[in-house]
Amino acid sequence: SKYSKQDIINLVEDNGVKFIRLQFTDIFGALKNVAITDKQLQKALNNECMFDGSSIEGFVRIEESDMYLRPDLDSFVIFPWRPQQGKVARLICDVYSPDGTPFLGDPRNVLKDVIKEAEELGYTLNVGPECEFFLFETDDKGQPKLETQDQGGYFDLGPVDLGENARRDMSLMLEEMGFEIEASHHEVAPGQNEIDFKYSDALTTADNIMTFKLVVKAIAQRHGLYATFMPKPILGINGSGMHINMSLNKDGKNAFVDESDKLGLSETAYYFIAGLMKHIKAMAAITNPIVNSYKRLVAGYEAPVYIAWSAKNRSPLIRVPAARGAGTRIELRCPDPSANPYLTLACLLKAGLDGIKNKLQVPNSTEKNIFEMSEEERLELGIENLPSSLEEAINYMKQSELVKETLGTHIFNNYVKAKQLEWDQYRTQISQWEIDNYLKKY
Ligand code: GLN
Ligand code: MG
Ligand code: MG
Ligand code: MG
Repeated sequence: SKYSKQDIINLVEDNGVKFIRLQFTDIFGALKNVAITDKQLQKALNNECMFDGSSIEGFVRIEESDMYLRPDLDSFVIFPWRPQQGKVARLICDVYSPDGTPFLGDPRNVLKDVIKEAEELGYTLNVGPECEFFLFETDDKGQPKLETQDQGGYFDLGPVDLGENARRDMSLMLEEMGFEIEASHHEVAPGQNEIDFKYSDALTTADNIMTFKLVVKAIAQRHGLYATFMPKPILGINGSGMHINMSLNKDGKNAFVDESDKLGLSETAYYFIAGLMKHIKAMAAITNPIVNSYKRLVAGYEAPVYIAWSAKNRSPLIRVPAARGAGTRIELRCPDPSANPYLTLACLLKAGLDGIKNKLQVPNSTEKNIFEMSEEERLELGIENLPSSLEEAINYMKQSELVKETLGTHIFNNYVKAKQLEWDQYRTQISQWEIDNYLKKY
């Protein structure tokens, strides 16, 4: 690893760090932290920092509430936007039970387990996410308004607006924290942005996604804006996705490459695609975890609706981007940024490995625009739909041995229970649409 305990102690001292945030993520993808002062650093580095897990949603039962945090030393980083006097740093932690075993409710542990399984087969997953988000204006109280600063569009170079300044600051902060920013641009919808950072191994990328969201929100606030990763905040314009680019590495080489294939893809790549396609319905409640996620997965807004793949067209669930050689990869387009990145990558890797282990046959690719096909045509080609609601997604997930095995029964049961409750709360609401359409009519 990069840092030793002594390195961390020196870094804290030399940089005048006063507060250290010990971070972890709950099963719904919310970033949690316990802040300590530099005085308690030694204790934290000895894995002796404890917190009460019972107050964290879906975490533990009351009777097993003491949890220990084990900092991942390599995750040490100073928050560059915080004061230069009495600096703030963070350490990302694994959560452990009092008996010294990894806590079954910790999503980071779940991902680590699947990564280990892949390593036993000789594979390392590399992941590059494309996180989209909206920047909204705020009112006098700092609350977001559903109004955007700009009227820009995809890759627009407009007069400098608040959003553009914010986006530049975000990229600079992220770079200071060790991110390699590959691209940052205005997205299709007004107020919508995307910042892409370099791919990395799955665990680093999941950690990076959590950090990314924190930084984007913090910097937006400093610009008087509100950043949201809600998948579909506004009807009638594009929603925000989190496309996931993936490749497997084996023996130092990209295992998705085979130059003799007509698409340049290896058998391994095809098996991986087949695994993703087989399990995507069951994983949707993880990759697209909230009621609102399914309002994005509708036709007309560059988000996928059907379970299909293609190397040519951009509309399907899985796309093979044009890059070849070391950059050969597949892009899964359904995940959105409300997803827990640890659980998402754990499920995707598990599904891909299932494809490899069982040599699952990939369906034919779809080169035609699926959105222009009739239902009969799709049926004939065997193209199925993604779940169209959280309810449908939960029902598929409940039947999935693969997802259960990936998450473990503790997370699986807590997750399903919470999502069913969420759906039920939503289902019983009376929406404005209903009032507008029914009140006077009946
Ligand atoms: N915003 C689109 C989505 O919901 C993606 C648009 C794009 O990146 N071309 O996935
Ligand atoms: Mg992109
Ligand atoms: Mg995009
Ligand atoms: Mg993309």
